[in-house]
Amino acid sequence: MKYDIVVIGAGIQGAGVAQAAAAAGYSVLVVEQTAPAAGTSSKSSKLIHGGLRYLETAQFGLVRESLRERALLLRLAPELVKLRPLHIPVYQDSTRSALTIRAGLSLYSVLAGLHKKSLFSQLGRNEWKTLAGLRQDNLKAVFRYYEAQTDDAALTRSVLQSAVILGADLLMPARFVGAERNGQNCKAEIETESGTESISCRVLVNCAGPWASEVLARITPALSSPAIELVQGSHLLLPPLLDQYFYLEAPQDKRAVFVLPWEGRLMVGTTEKAFVGAPEKAICSAEERDYLLATLRHYFPQLVIPEAEIDTFAGLRVLPKSDTNAFARPREVMFAVDNEMHPRVLSVMGGKLTTYRATAEAALLRLAPSLPTKERRADTALVSLIPVH
Ligand SMILES: Cc1cc2nc3c(=O)[nH]c(=O)nc-3n(C[C@H](O)[C@H](O)[C@H](O)COP(=O)(O)OP(=O)(O)OC[C@H]3O[C@@H](n4cnc5c(N)ncnc54)[C@H](O)[C@@H]3O)c2cc1C
Repeated sequence: MKYDIVVIGAGIQGAGVAQAAAAAGYSVLVVEQTAPAAGTSSKSSKLIHGGLRYLETAQFGLVRESLRERALLLRLAPELVKLRPLHIPVYQDSTRSALTIRAGLSLYSVLAGLHKKSLFSQLGRNEWKTLAGLRQDNLKAVFRYYEAQTDDAALTRSVLQSAVILGADLLMPARFVGAERNGQNCKAEIETESGTESISCRVLVNCAGPWASEVLARITPALSSPAIELVQGSHLLLPPLLDQYFYLEAPQDKRAVFVLPWEGRLMVGTTEKAFVGAPEKAICSAEERDYLLATLRHYFPQLVIPEAEIDTFAGLRVLPKSDTNAFARPREVMFAVDNEMHPRVLSVMGGKLTTYRATAEAALLRLAPSLPTKERRADTALVSLIPVH
């Protein structure tokens, strides 16, 4: 069998690349070993957001692109992506003053094109009591701004469904076990329930998320693997103890922690912990659980948290290897190709759920020299995303 593009992995990046490739008119096959969004794409904070905190590390390009994609997804997927008001409380001992938060939110609005949905406000003191249970001592200010929330796995399934409607094929469960590449094409070995198939393609796109290095290691002739590392992020899922959305600063280390009502539960996260081992073994540690509970209790001291009803989940970020702490590291997607002029293998690593569409279009541009010209079927910026029922 022969395809223009074989995509390994049906997380959000694989689904996005398949959708963009099918829309551009290419023949495309997606190979997924477990289920759509079985990896990181069902374990995120479920925000379609610009990333307010990335302003501090001057990642303006990423913020602008994310805000643009957020606006687009609110239009294309209104059943899956919904705007939510987030509250940022500022205390006497907060790292960032009210002035700094105001400046950050102003810049954020500007980068969002001063769109109505990007405007923020500062709550009057008389409104603080509406923030049920939020600690009020030493509270100096509360800001409200907007981000969008989604069901990450449902969004991934919907993008994958869109890819299939546009003509992509899906092989699942099916595992990529190896490939040989040469100047003209790639021959991928795919293990399915009925045996191993050899599938030829012009380009192979590695969207295996935390398994990306494992996939690269199975390709011959060997290609150099970019220096990446896995950083675990965990969340708590609690009963619906609060009905408002908060963006807090962890008292222990001043990192950002979200407290978000989500699908009838309360989600608290996230953490950052170096991870080594098989990606499918990622699990929230007792230390991460305690850190998140301590943050929640610090801001909502009266909250009674039923121990027996605390669920957790853990996902893995793919980040560039570095000695700096994970929180400060760039969150832009990383592309790695075997050959800049005529790529046969492209790895798409890290990045954001929010920017999957822009990432996919950029990936196709990188692959263009190795692909024939095709008649476009659709424009991903105009294709509505329908939930999969
Ligand atoms: C804790 C955390 C919170 C986050 N929060 C947000 C957020 O709120 N907003 C945001 O925009 N982004 C967020 N992100 C980032 C975002 O979730 C990820 O960038 C994105 O989900 C990565 O998707 P992916 O497709 O690259 O990987 P994955 O979703 O992991 O997909 C990889 C897929 O490849 C498959 N696979 C692997 N090996 C093989 C093989 N050999 N053969 C076949 N299939 C294979 C796996 O089964 C899996 O389904 C967060 C990330 C983390 C870790």
